Amino acid sequence: MPIRQLPETIVNRIAAGEVVERPASVVKELVENALDAGARRIEIVTAGGGLSLVRVTDDGAGIAADELPLAVARHCTSKIWADPGDIRTLGFRGEALPSIGSVARLRLRSRPADTEHGAEIAVEGGAVGPVRPAPGNRGTTVEVRDLFFATPARLKFAKSERAEATAITDVVRRLAVAFPHVRFSLNGADRSPLDLSPHAADGQEGWLARVADVLGADFAPNAVAVDAEREGVRLSGHVSIPAFHRANALQQHFLVNGRPVRDRLLAGALRGAYADLLPRDRHPLGALFVEIDGRDVDVNVHPAKADVRFRDPGLVRGLIVGAVREALARSGVRASSEATDGLAGAFRTQAPSAAKPARAGNGRPAGFDPATSPSRPLEPGFGEEASTGWRAAFEPAADLRADEAPIALDHAPLGAARAQVHGNYIVSQTEDALIIVDQHAAHERLVFEALKSALRARALPSQVLLLPEIVDLPEEDAERLAAHSETFRRLGLGFERFGPGAVMVRETPAMLGEIDASKLVRDLADALADGGDADLVEKKLDAVASSMACHGSVRAGRRLKPEEMNALLRQMEAVPGSGTCNHGRPTFIELKLADIERLFGRR
Ligand code: ADP
Ligand code: MG
Repeated sequence: MPIRQLPETIVNRIAAGEVVERPASVVKELVENALDAGARRIEIVTAGGGLSLVRVTDDGAGIAADELPLAVARHCTSKIWADPGDIRTLGFRGEALPSIGSVARLRLRSRPADTEHGAEIAVEGGAVGPVRPAPGNRGTTVEVRDLFFATPARLKFAKSERAEATAITDVVRRLAVAFPHVRFSLNGADRSPLDLSPHAADGQEGWLARVADVLGADFAPNAVAVDAEREGVRLSGHVSIPAFHRANALQQHFLVNGRPVRDRLLAGALRGAYADLLPRDRHPLGALFVEIDGRDVDVNVHPAKADVRFRDPGLVRGLIVGAVREALARSGVRASSEATDGLAGAFRTQAPSAAKPARAGNGRPAGFDPATSPSRPLEPGFGEEASTGWRAAFEPAADLRADEAPIALDHAPLGAARAQVHGNYIVSQTEDALIIVDQHAAHERLVFEALKSALRARALPSQVLLLPEIVDLPEEDAERLAAHSETFRRLGLGFERFGPGAVMVRETPAMLGEIDASKLVRDLADALADGGDADLVEKKLDAVASSMACHGSVRAGRRLKPEEMNALLRQMEAVPGSGTCNHGRPTFIELKLADIERLFGRR
């Protein structure tokens, strides 16, 4: 067959496969163009999750009529930077408009500031129309309709309208954090509107105000400042205290030299900084700026994805982990001790001087609610209800009378069980304190520790796959996995290198049951890339042990006999790590007699 050059439309569609993954990528490209054009006001309208319509209007520099055909032609850009290490615009490839035009119906209308009349050009499925005069305000409007009409296969991959609409909001919020002085509005029948008013162009203030707009008003009072520098790399911004977290990582914003990025290394470093401070499935919030010499970072990694490549990833990672940890430590919000230390303050007494209220991060006394405070004035009819409520709340443990517990137990660190209250809390007494144990949390931890030590005692059994599974992955990942293959094998995961950029999995840990081997391997590679820990499989297995423990534990609500309660206390004393549950919360709290006496004004 003769060799020929691919037609332009096909070339553009191939590029579109990379650049235009979903409607949110269209929004990203168009808003970035508006920002590059110096817009101060950007209006975005979508319909059908961006699949039927995306329209972006800006008040930026505009495009001259005779340049409209160039704007939609491949590899044509007004953003040429001599030094690839010094790219100061968001775009630089000249690929977005032709790519979008090849898979959708695109209309580009513009009027530069210095001209009277505007003009427009249309591209439908790659067919470029003529330039026509068109009325319009100063600036540019790009309208994209029927995305992927020209590539039905791609259309099939679109998620629900709602999911696409949400992804678009996320893209806009990310760009908005980087450009606080620009007004953004996002509207459409497919969404709740977003309107971000402009703030001061530079300086911390405007930036903080925009972060507050995007991350929510309760972020600032629950955040700590991060500011550090290492070998010329500067990190600044704010992150949430460990007590303030979310179910996903969408509220994490990273900017590298002012460019919003979504990067595995950065996200992994942030996660690492909170490693033992947050429950496993919760995520911190934050907005972090990395400033680094342009020659030490490559933003040119992927046309659409927002990841970057650092020349010295270890340096950046170490800087983030170190600086965030230090900021958190400085703010004094380390988890479990805080819960106990603040406890005495959380008790409210009739004598206001008796206890100083603990301050939560937001400056309000912790747990203070005037409507339910026991110190509030009595209301008519209240006394009756309150007294029955109190009786119901205190249920002495079955068969337990205080004097039945052997006195010797008072010397044990967790003391002698005296009662079980609210079906889940064991109240015990030591020589000088009152202990309250969360029985479910405590038991869960004990089972977990038992499973873990059983796991570590010997090499774990594996299960041989009928057909070895080939997993393709980036070469660095494959290499990193291979470096730990012995540890993995001991834990029942057997694999070997399979040429460049792939591994072949032969066995998986039997205790994991039927699993998606390639997902396990990829997750492990991700985690290795993030944390670099050698004991990763162990952590994975810990996760398995942890969820098994959770299923097998005494539920809250089960009545325990005194012997059972005391047995639990003795086990807790014997097992290291039993002071916190598998999710990092405390399993017991201690209230010193001295503090109790202080609360009653006896001291
Ligand atoms: P790139 O942004 O990489 O240059 P694009 O295909 O996104 O490539 O855009 C091509 C060119 O069209 C840009 O370089 C710019 O000159 C022009 N352009 C696109 N959108 C706008 C806009 N909103 N305002 C002004 N010029 C624009
Ligand atoms: Mg662009």
